[in-house]
Amino acid sequence: MTDSTLTASAAGGEFLGHPRGLVVCFFTEMWERFSYYGMRALLIFYLTQHFLFSDQVAAGIYGAYISLVYITPVLGGIVADRYLGAKRAVTLGAVLLIAGHTGMAFEGATAVETVVDGETVVLRDPLYLQIFYFSLALIIMGVGFLKANISTLVGSLYRQNDPRRDGGFTLFYMGINVGSMFGALICGFLLEFGGFSWGFGAASLGMLAGLIVFLRGQRLLGGAGDPAKPELLKRRLAPGINTEWAIYLLALAGVLVFWQLMQHRALVGGLLGAFLTLMILVVVGYSFLRCGREDRNRMLVCLFLMSYQIIFWGLFEQTGSSLNLMTDRNVDREVLGFEIPAAAFQSVNAAFIILLAPLFSMLWIGLGRRGIEPSTPMKFALALIQLGLGFLLLVYGASIADNPVAVGLIWLILLYLLHTMGELCISPVGLSMTTKLSVPSVVGMMMGCWFLASAAGNFVSGQIAAMTGSETVGGEVVDPAASLAAYVEVYSAAGWYSIGFGVLAMLLAPLLKYFMHGVR
Ligand code: GLU
Repeated sequence: MTDSTLTASAAGGEFLGHPRGLVVCFFTEMWERFSYYGMRALLIFYLTQHFLFSDQVAAGIYGAYISLVYITPVLGGIVADRYLGAKRAVTLGAVLLIAGHTGMAFEGATAVETVVDGETVVLRDPLYLQIFYFSLALIIMGVGFLKANISTLVGSLYRQNDPRRDGGFTLFYMGINVGSMFGALICGFLLEFGGFSWGFGAASLGMLAGLIVFLRGQRLLGGAGDPAKPELLKRRLAPGINTEWAIYLLALAGVLVFWQLMQHRALVGGLLGAFLTLMILVVVGYSFLRCGREDRNRMLVCLFLMSYQIIFWGLFEQTGSSLNLMTDRNVDREVLGFEIPAAAFQSVNAAFIILLAPLFSMLWIGLGRRGIEPSTPMKFALALIQLGLGFLLLVYGASIADNPVAVGLIWLILLYLLHTMGELCISPVGLSMTTKLSVPSVVGMMMGCWFLASAAGNFVSGQIAAMTGSETVGGEVVDPAASLAAYVEVYSAAGWYSIGFGVLAMLLAPLLKYFMHGVR
């Protein structure tokens, strides 16, 4: 048990059998995800219907954004491990996020399509386009400081072998999804009845609520998340500038870099590749140079299992891009005479998580008691198989629809059900795994690596979404039948590949489990 763990437990007492600091992490992350997913539910529509980008360009911007958002946590994790500590890092992240979401609320006039010399040209207000890219950059940096560190804060509330750890992460994951569900619902409906500014503005208010919760709840966290060496932060680097302020200034410089990167998206893939290579070298190097045999094997298994996320999120994250557009264009969204806005369906996955997470938690415990709980590698394999089955169900639903604009809603819901069950087998399990298999002094960095793998998946998801693109005029699809055919082709390949990888992962599971040396 670390000192900070002791202080954290002692500081707050317990709530529902968990350290009370978990309540602070739960609500902070809930509001952060409210803003992230609320904004994200509108993003693809903002790109295609406000800025009138083609499907392909919009998918590229969307994919670059959602991958950069998960690249930065590795930096935020390292900075927190070495200097800031998770608490300061989360606060900085929240401030940047509020600024970013507020910036998104400045939308300007809708772009116009005009014909010049026989060619269609789209005129966009350059000022608002720059505000948009700058706001995305603030969010990218903000998530970088917040996301991994709030997760390691959860881990640091528990002792190394505390049996409540997985349950704590499951509760935390529910917080993520309560935020995500209400974010998509509220922002989705605000878009429908107020416009983009309203939806994005609500996301910003949500993050403000998160910051307030976090600052007010500091006492319950005790010493968890304090800087490892506070004296390092006070070291003067230049007149009037100590390390802490230098970090804040560097974070702002990073925002400028991401502002430009969002406009030079071809570089994002290269950057991601460089980060991934570096991550592998650092983790492998650290494992061999600094760890004993068992720790080394655990770290390497952890790293290997992280790679599954690339396949998982690459396919799963069609949700906010191509599935969102398909829902708008090809799915019959009328329920009891009321047409539900497509963006609101972004909340279905989160709603299923909230319903199913406690059941999964009970299921794991029940199977555990009988000694037949699947190992972490086996759960990951199951995740991939369920993901694939979800796509195949939607493909089947599309094949029996007699109108290309009226695919039955039930098939979309079934896809989300299967995808959610898969997510529950990989995402909270992976967060917990990262805090269990990592050496404690680099857990922030490892958590950052976990999200870096998500970044790679998110990047791939943008590439896959671009393959589903159809011809549009003024943001509306020209031929719904052709558009549906494109979705079906890509989703059936996605389904079969995912099942194939899942079966392969099942075969590998016993070997990986062996190298985890008793950690499940
Ligand atoms: N729904 C999860 C979250 O927002 C996804 C995490 C991930 O992509 O790794 O936290």
